[in-house]
Amino acid sequence: MLNLAMLLEDSARNHPEQTAVVLDSRNWTYADIDAEARRVAALLAGRGIAPGDRVALSCPNLQWFPIIYYGIVKAGAVVVPMNVLATRAEVEYFLADSGAKAFFCFAGTPEMPIGEQGFSAFLSTSGCEQFFLITAASEAASPIVGAETLEQALSGRAPIFETVMRQETDPAAILYTSGTTGRPKGAVLTHSNLLLHAATGNQMLGSTDLGDTHLVVLPLSHVFAATVNMHAGFASASTLVLLPRFDPRVALRIMETGRITFLAGVPTIYWSLLNAMTDATDVARIAGSMRRALSAGAALPVPIIEGFGRNFGVTILEGYGMTEASPTITFSKPGSAARPGSAGVPIWGVDVKLVDDNGDTIDGPDRVGEILVRGHNVMRGYHNRPEETAEVLRDGWLHTGDLGRRDEDGWYYIVDRVKDLIIRGGYNVYPREVEDVLMTHEAVSLAAVIGVPDQALGEEVKAVVVAKPGAWLTENELIAWSRLRLAAYKYPRIVTFVDEIPLSATGKALKRELAR
Ligand code: AMP
Repeated sequence: MLNLAMLLEDSARNHPEQTAVVLDSRNWTYADIDAEARRVAALLAGRGIAPGDRVALSCPNLQWFPIIYYGIVKAGAVVVPMNVLATRAEVEYFLADSGAKAFFCFAGTPEMPIGEQGFSAFLSTSGCEQFFLITAASEAASPIVGAETLEQALSGRAPIFETVMRQETDPAAILYTSGTTGRPKGAVLTHSNLLLHAATGNQMLGSTDLGDTHLVVLPLSHVFAATVNMHAGFASASTLVLLPRFDPRVALRIMETGRITFLAGVPTIYWSLLNAMTDATDVARIAGSMRRALSAGAALPVPIIEGFGRNFGVTILEGYGMTEASPTITFSKPGSAARPGSAGVPIWGVDVKLVDDNGDTIDGPDRVGEILVRGHNVMRGYHNRPEETAEVLRDGWLHTGDLGRRDEDGWYYIVDRVKDLIIRGGYNVYPREVEDVLMTHEAVSLAAVIGVPDQALGEEVKAVVVAKPGAWLTENELIAWSRLRLAAYKYPRIVTFVDEIPLSATGKALKRELAR
């Protein structure tokens, strides 16, 4: 019997006065966070939430996020985090699909009234019985008529609560995923998935010492920040400095205080930090404290690794993962020099193999195939979706839908999504390879490559490019640049320039939107 919350409880017992969370200029110790989480658990139990019930959470990176998340888990219930940018229709879908019995929702701001939207989604979801509005502590009355505030619900509730122990394979969280590929499905992650991931993560990073200070730049509602910053950070009694909304200038200012030692981001975060730097940025101060930076979620262009290393003296380590794998699958090998462009080797306790189109295992190096995964990190399945689960969990392996290759030493290179593959005149073109070439042009800020229908070839390769401000760049220049560096069937014949490429919350180019 175990519970994911044990990792917070251990740190609260062993390091009660250590700072767990910093937001603006307020600090919460491990003892504070654990006690508050116990009050939330007591509230849920008092309102009839039973072990195994689903409880939804929509909250930006505020101290309330970890408090409520761990409160739900302590009560034996299953947390369903959602992105605060979800639309009302999406919120309704997440509540109904997960069968949530209770919903904690941030009140929001006048520009982003997510509380109003959340409350109305709650009212129209049958079976969802409790709604708690997360407000600033100073607000006495509820800003939404009829909605109880969390403050009101918690008042007078003592932090006496014994964590409800669960089986290893009992769900701890349901994470909705695949926003880029149709209707999201709820990946069910178990207590043991998440506990083992936190332990493995810290072992890989060597951060078992106290005193790592994370700047949390990604939303904690996403599996990456939840596991790497929150679970692994709490397990090693680290301090999380929360950013409710990522702004690269604010992030740099906090880094300039010389406290931040650890950063976990997606490539676009690193890209925007480098772009937001000015002559006044105190690079030496930032470099003086930074110990580790890691990236995952999308391919990390080598120029970003180089730029970050040059400025801050830290090599960004790349990992590869997906929500269905809790999320890490491969990560830079501990103790080895990083190999830019590679997403590393399988993490401890996890097997990875590549298969060809016929499903046969690829043994040798440098051949591209679909990446299959098995181990402690693989989800239990999609919530209430046996067919979709059977499609991805087959023959004991998780079929990732990603294409990769392995070098002679067993390091993996993520080539692309299977579905993003472009087949031009019968030849496979991997958009990522073309994007990497375009990104090495000094006037290119960002590039995304897609296939467009072509009568003769089936598909043609098209590049959508954001040029650097003030740069003078033409379609022909970029076609010529790629033609010199890529095989004849790969280089883009069509180039269009845009001001912005639509990106998902975790920095992936939304290629379906580009193709419209
Ligand atoms: P998510 O479930 O939102 O975390 O998205 C998972 C997907 O992100 C994977 O299936 C990959 O397609 C992509 N991804 C994650 N890490 C990398 C990486 N290092 N390089 C390329 N693609 C990645």
